[in-house]
Amino acid sequence: MKSTLILVGTELLSGATVDTNSIYMAEELNKYGIEIEYKIVVRDTIEDIIGAIEYGAKKTDLIIMSGGLGPTMDDLTKEAIGRFLNKKLIVDKAELEELRKKFKNLGIEFLENNLKEIEKPEGAVSFKNDVGMAPAFYCENIAAFPGVPRELKNMFPKFLKWYEENIKKGDPIYIKDILTYGIPESHLEKAVKNYFIEPGIDYEFLVKDYGILIRLQSKMSNKNRVEKIKEKIYNSIGSNIFGEDKERLETIVIENLKKLNYTISTGESCTGGLIASKLVEVPGASKVFIEGLVTYSNEAKIERLGVSKEIINKYGAVSEETAREMVLGLKTDVGISVTGIAGPEGGTEEKPVGLVYIGIRVKDDIYIHRMLFKGDREKIRNKSVLHSLFELSK
Ligand code: ATP
Ligand code: MG
Repeated sequence: MKSTLILVGTELLSGATVDTNSIYMAEELNKYGIEIEYKIVVRDTIEDIIGAIEYGAKKTDLIIMSGGLGPTMDDLTKEAIGRFLNKKLIVDKAELEELRKKFKNLGIEFLENNLKEIEKPEGAVSFKNDVGMAPAFYCENIAAFPGVPRELKNMFPKFLKWYEENIKKGDPIYIKDILTYGIPESHLEKAVKNYFIEPGIDYEFLVKDYGILIRLQSKMSNKNRVEKIKEKIYNSIGSNIFGEDKERLETIVIENLKKLNYTISTGESCTGGLIASKLVEVPGASKVFIEGLVTYSNEAKIERLGVSKEIINKYGAVSEETAREMVLGLKTDVGISVTGIAGPEGGTEEKPVGLVYIGIRVKDDIYIHRMLFKGDREKIRNKSVLHSLFELSK
């Protein structure tokens, strides 16, 4: 199954707007096993749009368009599709009612040219727009969506589901994403590439902000084979894997704590509350997260966490000893402490920029991690957050 994406909009060619729609659609189409053969970006002119449709129709089974469905003069996608298919553009009564209601609710006067929003080629199937005006539609192997990313994202899944059930009826795709932390791409490849020889299964490494995602993709009928390869990958690099598919580190940490009925708090220096912030991103974090202290100065470490002056004087604020006392000063079942040098200034030969001590305490067990992170201030701080969460995700 091959498709052509047509992105309509002069602003996409001038650089005024970055085309993110095709990236989103590619991700989604992937899941349904619909390949993208061509991606065509065209101006808002009727000739260019028809030209692109003609090309796509000649070369591929399905054309998916974004942009130009609105009510203004430069919105020409429908007209182009109508002309190409040799079909009249019509207005559905029920959809007109719906549109009038939307305008009324917003307190905007309904103008004659707003009718254009719901025009579609005769015989087209449309998909409800819950977040905007113009519905998307499908007619004879051409699907058209508004350019507004939020609206596209509202209707694209509906279209794909419908398309799968009514038109394509093929073998759906099975995707398994394995999420890793702390292993460089080259090492990862070396460790797992021997498993990547089975025919009919595609493999991909995707660099993410947390680490590397390994994607295994195949037809649904190969699901068991994909799962077997997954097991092998776990056996090889399991200690670097923290989750699968849509899981996130902070969610896993919170879920683990909930299961154990443990509370958590943080004492952060160089991360300035980033860890606490990540944890409270998770809905329901209040069940386990008690407090986050940003103890940036020495005085704060002493007063709020009970770190002894002598320890700081003897070993310095950035030291294993201080990290240990910080995490001991937290009153919850589980604690995280971070103290480090994020730079760009403040490093010495003995304690360079990027040196970070992370204290993890689970009840009476304390682990202090001495890390040497590379990168700028932002990177060092983010890596400190990731590492802390990763340690607690196990
Ligand atoms: P509207 O009803 O708002 O007029 P439309 O379907 O006519 O929607 P456009 O006018 O082409 O869509 O674009 C609407 C908005 O969506 C613009 O801000 C545009 O920059 C943005 N947009 C269009 N195409 C893309 C794309 N491929 N990627 C990201 N944004 C896009
Ligand atoms: Mg428009």
